[in-house]
Amino acid sequence: MSNNCLFCRIAAGEIPADTLYEDNDVMAFWDISPQAPKHFLVIPKQHITGPSALTQADENLIGKVLRVGAELAKSNGAEQFRFVINNGEDAGQTVFHFHLHVLGGRKMTWPPG
Ligand code: 5GP
Ligand code: ZN
Repeated sequence: MSNNCLFCRIAAGEIPADTLYEDNDVMAFWDISPQAPKHFLVIPKQHITGPSALTQADENLIGKVLRVGAELAKSNGAEQFRFVINNGEDAGQTVFHFHLHVLGGRKMTWPPG
């Protein structure tokens, strides 16, 4: 847990979030600034700054983040959805705690911005 990390503090319950799902490993909550009718984030509770910081030891955990994201998309009315994981400022990462964006409820465009 990193005290100056927003998502660590959400995972610890110190900052409230509109939570869809939580267990010992992961947490999912609605994005505060949604970019689609359905837009939520799935995070590992463990502090990992982003994809570049992953190690082999994180493989099961990140696989679970993806599975939970897909299951929650389905159970929240987004059968078709887009996963986004930003890595680094130029990619649009603003919170340096690994998070999977799950976006749905509208037609997506390609390429992304
Ligand atoms: P990034 O830009 O790092 O890929 O995504 C960070 C996401 O976190 C953004 O979509 C932003 O709207 C969301 N976010 C930032 N602060 C909060 C917060 O306090 N609560 C929630 N629920 N989402 C947040
Ligand atoms: Zn963190």
